[in-house]
Amino acid sequence: MTPSVLTDSSRAVGLNVIAERESEVRAYVRDFPTVFKRAEGCMVWDENGKAYIDFFSGAGALNYGHNHPEMKKAIITYLLDDGMVHSLDLATEAKIDFIKTFDELILKPRHLHYKIMFPGPTGTNAVEAALKLARKVTGRSTVAAFTHGFHGMTLGALAVTANRRKRRGASRPLEGSISLPYDGFMGEDVDTLDYIERLFADEGSGIDVPAAVIVETVQGEGGLHAARLEWLRGLREITRRHGILLIVDDIQAGSGRTGPFFSFEAAEIEPDMVTLSKSLGGYGLPFALVLLHPDLDQFLPGEHNGTFRGNNLAMVAATTALKQYWKDGAFSEEVLKKGHVLRDRLQAIVDAANVSAQVRGRGMMQGIAFEPHGFAEAVSKEAFVRGLIAETSGPENEVIKLLPPLIIDDETLDDGLERLEDAIQTVAQSF
Ligand SMILES: *Cc1c(COP(=O)(O)O)cnc(C)c1O
Repeated sequence: MTPSVLTDSSRAVGLNVIAERESEVRAYVRDFPTVFKRAEGCMVWDENGKAYIDFFSGAGALNYGHNHPEMKKAIITYLLDDGMVHSLDLATEAKIDFIKTFDELILKPRHLHYKIMFPGPTGTNAVEAALKLARKVTGRSTVAAFTHGFHGMTLGALAVTANRRKRRGASRPLEGSISLPYDGFMGEDVDTLDYIERLFADEGSGIDVPAAVIVETVQGEGGLHAARLEWLRGLREITRRHGILLIVDDIQAGSGRTGPFFSFEAAEIEPDMVTLSKSLGGYGLPFALVLLHPDLDQFLPGEHNGTFRGNNLAMVAATTALKQYWKDGAFSEEVLKKGHVLRDRLQAIVDAANVSAQVRGRGMMQGIAFEPHGFAEAVSKEAFVRGLIAETSGPENEVIKLLPPLIIDDETLDDGLERLEDAIQTVAQSF
């Protein structure tokens, strides 16, 4: 039976199939329990024909929206031409095209001279590669990460991830990492860089000098804490002074999410390594890379590898996305502008709502942290009823997190925010 002829009773069966046979580890389907059928741009539709505005965007993998027509065309053309789909790290035209385009449109205009390493296609694959390389190059075993940071679920990346519940899932010691206080962790009056500088500088601090510090400029999963730009600059200075590599994990905040292609551009810093994934592939196809300073290019041939490093369909889509949106600064400007609109609207919503809350984030990666326990989760549920998909974030799921597709038009953005405001008002009445 094809999905298009599902009847009412077979519909319930659809979710039942998942509930009965898919592992309990499943997550998002519990928050958004319907069967999705079609997606286009900022919108998705379920099998009942109900339309949803998507402020979830595949957790940041769909910056250009669902099923982008130009990328779809490029992918279909590549398939019809029998282009090589799987190629490990063999040379293909798709890969050469991607590297040339990335160099010309992203690296060169920003005077960046990174080499590009292709790890496995997921974000955590990129993080593992970066951490492993940092340890190899420096000969040190520890990596420093931040409170509320998130870097992936495989053991190396999980060791630099802060969330206790996720860490417990490892059921074994997570080794080789230390946790540092992120900007704002000790309250507004404390500059956590003072503490970090002392830890690295004092021979008696009790910690070994780490191989690297890994940081998100805006913490996507950890609750949308955004580091101040001067704090990021200070972190760059401290790491440089102590010979520690700085890795910016731009898997979620990169690819234009905060405005510029890289989230660290606003701080005018140059990390030693950068990880990218999520929206890099443009169309929601798995794709990741690590950018590294040429001096760090020290893995021997084949010393690090992976079967799915050559996802040519993702490369084709990625190249199309770069050519369409990153030829000049116009798209970036537009995202910044929408980010300001989002900021103002969220602030107005918080001011009007009778609840203790705070706007967090930067660019098109913002949300509201609510003080009452369970409030954000209730808002997410109410929003879903109103045809808006928005997930929660933070260690207590205390933040309603908004990641609208960057290509969203003003009206749909406005419409989504109205649904959100309505959901918040409803929840406020019962809290
Ligand atoms: C999502 C994410 C990852 C992990 O990516 P996966 O593709 O889920 O493995 C790593 N770092 C950051 C900042 C992320 O947001």
